[in-house]
Amino acid sequence: MEKALRTAGRKREEITLVAITKTFPASVIREAYECGLRHFGENYVQEFEAKAPELADLCGATFHFVGHLQSNKARRAAELFQVIQTVDSARLARRLQETGGPVEVMLEVKLSPEDSKSGASPEELPALIEAVRSMPNLRLTGLMTMPPWSENPEDSRPYFRRLRELAEEHGLRGLSMGMSHDFEVAIEEGATHVRIGSALFGPRGKA
Ligand SMILES: *Cc1c(COP(=O)(O)O)cnc(C)c1O
Repeated sequence: MEKALRTAGRKREEITLVAITKTFPASVIREAYECGLRHFGENYVQEFEAKAPELADLCGATFHFVGHLQSNKARRAAELFQVIQTVDSARLARRLQETGGPVEVMLEVKLSPEDSKSGASPEELPALIEAVRSMPNLRLTGLMTMPPWSENPEDSRPYFRRLRELAEEHGLRGLSMGMSHDFEVAIEEGATHVRIGSALFGPRGKA
C-alpha cells in the first residue's frame, strides 16, 4: 500500500483497509484486530452471525458487508454490519431504510455486462442514488465495484477510473475498489477503501 501511495502521491489516512475475512474463523479477526486493523469485511450474513458473538468486545471495530445481500436478510445485515457496501437496488435500500438505521451504505455498480450478476448498471445509478438520498436512515457515502477477474491488474484500471468518474458526477467521495491482486492500481485511481483478503490471510478454503 505504501508503495502505491507514494506512486500516487496520496496519504495513508485517505485509505481504509478493509480486511476481508470470509471463511476465516473469529479468532483470525481477533488477531488482525490485535495487529491494529479496525475494518473488516464479510460476504455472508449467516457466516458472520455465527462469528459476531465472539467479537462483541472489539472496541472500535467496523464491519462492512461486501457480499450479495438478499432483501430478506437486510434486517439482520443492518444489525450486524455498520456499512453495507453492496446496495444495488431501491428495493434493497427500502428494506434497509425500514430497519430504522442509521446505516452507512455504498452502491455496488456493475461496470461490465458479463461476469457478476449483482450491481446496478451505470444507467440505473442516477435513479438509485436519488432514491437512497431520500431515505433518512441511510447515509450514502460512495460507490463500490468488482471488475471482472483478470491475471493482469492493469485490466482493472479502466473499471476503477469509470467508478471514480461516476462518483464525481454524483458528488460521492467514497470509492471501494481494489482487492489483493489489483489494490495498487485502485489506489492510483483514487480508491478510498481497498478490500483485501488473501494478501493478508493467505488462500481461502471453499466457503
Ligand atoms: C473475497 C472478496 C474480496 C477479497 O478478495 P481477495 O482477492 O482475497 O483480496 C474483496 N471484495 C469482495 C467483494 C470479495 O468478495
